[in-house]
Amino acid sequence: MADRGTRRRAGAGTPEDVVGQAAAAVDLVELDGAVSGCRACPRLVAWREEVAAEKRAAFRDWTYWGRPVPGFGPAQASIAVLGLAPAAHGGNRTGRIFTGDRSGDVLFAALHRAGLANQPTSEARDDGLALHGVRIFAAVRCAPPANKPTPEERDTCAPWLHRELALIRPTLRVVVALGSFAWAAFWPALPAVYGVRPPVPRPAFGHGAIWQHDGVPALLGSYHVSQQNTFTGRLTPAMLDGVLAQAKAVAGVE
Ligand code: SF4
Repeated sequence: MADRGTRRRAGAGTPEDVVGQAAAAVDLVELDGAVSGCRACPRLVAWREEVAAEKRAAFRDWTYWGRPVPGFGPAQASIAVLGLAPAAHGGNRTGRIFTGDRSGDVLFAALHRAGLANQPTSEARDDGLALHGVRIFAAVRCAPPANKPTPEERDTCAPWLHRELALIRPTLRVVVALGSFAWAAFWPALPAVYGVRPPVPRPAFGHGAIWQHDGVPALLGSYHVSQQNTFTGRLTPAMLDGVLAQAKAVAGVE
C-alpha cells in the first residue's frame, strides 16, 4: 500500500477540482499530497516545468521539484508564516517552501534566532530542519514568472490556503504575512475559514501592522524577506526579529 505522504491521486486540473480536493483533505498529509499534484493554472504549470527543465547553471545537477510546493511545519502550529509563492530556483527546485534561496536564508536564520527552528539554514528537504510551532506556506503554491501571479491564479489557489488554515485552526493564533500580497490574501480566508466578514475598509499593510478579531488568528504584517528588501536594508535582521517576537507574544509562545 502506498504511504499516505507519497500517495498520488489524479491532480486537480481545474479550479473546481481545487475546491473539491481541498475540501476533501482530512489532514495536512492529504492536503500536501493533493497540492503537490495540482495542475489547475496552465500558465504556472508551463512555467514551473520549463524552469525545472532548463535549470540554473549552479543547480544543473539537481532534479528540480517542478511542482506546487506544499506547506512545511507541524500541524500543531500556533504561528503561521504566509508568503507569496515559491521561488523558481528555490522552492520550485527543492520542493520545500523558502528552501534553497536567499529569502529563505534570511527567514530561517531569524526563525532559529527566535527559537522556532532547530537550525538556521534550509537547503534541501532532507536537511533535518524542524520547525517548532510554526507552519510556513504560500498564498500561491506554484512559482510564477517574475514572482507575479495573476489575480485569477491567486483565486484559483486560494482553496488550498483556506483548507490549510482550517486544518491548523485549533492551535493557530497568529499569521505573519510576508508582504502586501500575503496580507491581502488573508482577507478572503475570513469568511471561507472562520465565518467572519472582512473589515471595511481593509487595514493597511505595514511592517509590524496588526489586525485582531475575536475567534480569528491575528494578522501581523512584515516586509517580505526578498533580496530586494534585505539587500537594500528596508528589512533588517533586527526588524524581522522584532516581528517574530511580536508573533510569539501574540501566540503565547515562550
Ligand atoms: S498555483 Fe495553486 S491552483 Fe494553480 S496550479 Fe499551482 S497549486 Fe494549483
